[in-house]
Order: sequence, then C-alpha cells, then structure tokens
Amino acid sequence: MNIIMLGAQGTGKGTVAGFISQEMGWPQISTGDIFRKNISEKTELGIIADSYISKGNLVPDEITVPIVKKRLAEDDAKNGVILDGFPRTIAQAEKLDEILAEVGKKVDLVINLVTPKEEIIERMLTRRVCTNQECKATYNTKLHPPKVEGICDKCGAPLKQRDDDKDPEAINRRLELYEEKTSPLIEFYKQKGVLRTETVSVAINHLGKDVADEVVRDIRGN
Ligand code: AMP
Repeated sequence: MNIIMLGAQGTGKGTVAGFISQEMGWPQISTGDIFRKNISEKTELGIIADSYISKGNLVPDEITVPIVKKRLAEDDAKNGVILDGFPRTIAQAEKLDEILAEVGKKVDLVINLVTPKEEIIERMLTRRVCTNQECKATYNTKLHPPKVEGICDKCGAPLKQRDDDKDPEAINRRLELYEEKTSPLIEFYKQKGVLRTETVSVAINHLGKDVADEVVRDIRGN
C-alpha cells in the first residue's frame, strides 16, 4: 500500500509515518531526511539542498523528483511505502502518479494531518531529532520526551534541534509555503477519493500515535 503523509510542518507526519512503518513493515521515505543525511555528509547534493533548506525554501523538482524515483525503485519499497514530505506541490504529485503508474501502482491513501497553528509553532520549537542519520528518531521535549534528556532512546546518540526549527523566520516561511504550494494537494487527493483527514492536537487529546493506531487498525480490517 502506498501512503502519503500530508499536513503542515510540525503536525506530526514523521511520527505517524514512523509508527505505521513499524507496524506494517513498509519503509518511511522522508525527502527531508534524505536531504539532511546528505547535508551532514557534505555531499554535492547536500551542499545544493542546504542552500534552499536553510532559507526555508523548497528544493527544486529537478533535484527532488529523481531522488524519490530512485528510492521507490529499491527492493524494500515493492510492497508499500509511506512518503513523508513528498509530494509537496501539484507538479510533484503528478510526477509521483507517473512514477507509480509505470510500475502498475498508485497512491492508495493520503493521511492529511491538521493541527492548530499555535500548537504547530510550539511543536517545531520543542522538536528534537536523533543525530544518528541511520536512526533519525524524532522526539518532542513536551509531548514525547526521550527517557534520558538529550539522548535517543533507540540508539543512544545525542539529540539536537533541527537548524530550520531554530529560526522563527524560516518557520514562518515554511508555513507560508505549505499554504501556498502544498495545501492545494488536499483538494487534488480528495478528488481522487483517497484523502483521510485527521486532527492532531493536545487540546482534544488526539496525537500522532492515536492516528497511527486507527489507520493500522483500518488497514488490517479490524
Ligand atoms: P521536512 O523534513 O519534510 O520538513 O523537509 C525539510 C526541508 O527539506 C523542507 O523545508 C524543504 O526545504 C526540503 N524538502 C523536503 N521535501 C521536499 C520536497 N518534496 N520538495 C522540495 N523540497 C523538499
């Protein structure tokens, strides 16, 4: 099953994708993670990507789309994937349809996460990520803290704040970009009949783990 995570930054796409991935055994493919890995390894791709990401801009499609195409062709992606952070524009969504159609596949489910804006900003400021690029676990100092402060539960590596989560200007730029470029995807996938919208909010005590549990239950049909 091919699943797409949709929703503004800080709504918990990575958390939901991670839980579903663990339960179903389908890889979580995050374009942001792929870029961050390349940035930390100072590859050519990383240096180019960083020039966009550090300003809160999107990395151009000529770079992003081939990376996703290559990743989807890998062996572990054949039974299903959870795409987190791609597509981010209608043009990317159309490309993805083409890539999947070439191998007789399609987008089966789009999980659209909605969170009140005040909570989003708070979550971005309190988000911490594992510095081990092979692990990439994410935490939240308030909602989902690690057992030992600053240390990853899964691999023991230090946690850090993402550079683009530190700068309020970059945060706002990303939220504006989401509204302008990515939110039209909600209607795009609604038309295709694959959209599932879920509210993630502390105010109603419905968090990423709850969404993931509900989705997994529905996929398994129980
Ligand atoms: P994320 O981890 O999904 O928040 O992504 C971090 C940053 O990587 C974004 O703010 C963009 O600059 C870049 N990025 C991630 N996915 C894409 C994409 N599908 N298209 C363009 N840029 C992307």
